[in-house]
Amino acid sequence: MTTTKKPATKKPAAAKAAPKKTAAAKPAIKKPAAKKPVGPIQVDALDAHPEFDLFTYCELSGETRIEHDLLEELEPRFDTWAEKYLRAYKITDPAAPGEGGHIILWLEEPVEEEIEGIWQDSPGAGMAFHNLAIHMVMSAAQNVVPELADKGCAPLPKPTAGILKAFEKLGLIWNKEGTVNRQFAVFTRMPYSEGCSICILRPKCPNASDD
Ligand code: SF4
Repeated sequence: MTTTKKPATKKPAAAKAAPKKTAAAKPAIKKPAAKKPVGPIQVDALDAHPEFDLFTYCELSGETRIEHDLLEELEPRFDTWAEKYLRAYKITDPAAPGEGGHIILWLEEPVEEEIEGIWQDSPGAGMAFHNLAIHMVMSAAQNVVPELADKGCAPLPKPTAGILKAFEKLGLIWNKEGTVNRQFAVFTRMPYSEGCSICILRPKCPNASDD
């Protein structure tokens, strides 16, 4: 018996799914990175307490001893200047590196005039009081930024545009040489950070270190 083989029914090939038309991928538009909101500059008066230290003063003056009479003039002058003419502020600029904190402190103009007057009478005494003013602003800076005492020097950062405006409001003018219009002044970061590496005097400073 022969059987006739049913011709195999060929399953119709499954219709190939027509490729779905996908919308052409749009090139991703890169949003500009959102800028971190920058808060306002803050200026706060500080209470800095400088202390007269005979050893530091002698070291600064390059002297090994101080005449008793001179010492009797230096100490009261130190106290009077600190009370009447020392100004100290913390300026915080959120746009500045790190925490943005800085201190600026200075002795007001009458101290400069007083020293100039002493200088006219006696250059030696003028120099002694000039050194006293330097000792005062450094001691005041060390009082609010204690690390400066170990360093023996205050790294001078480049002020931001915001800090320059704050200076103006305080009656200070920044000079491109890295000074303000007061003879005895210290400007540095608060809290202390990075040492000589942030100091704009570094290229010409013989005492610069790699801290
Ligand atoms: S570079 Fe010179 S001036 Fe500046 S912090 Fe260092 S030692 Fe002081």
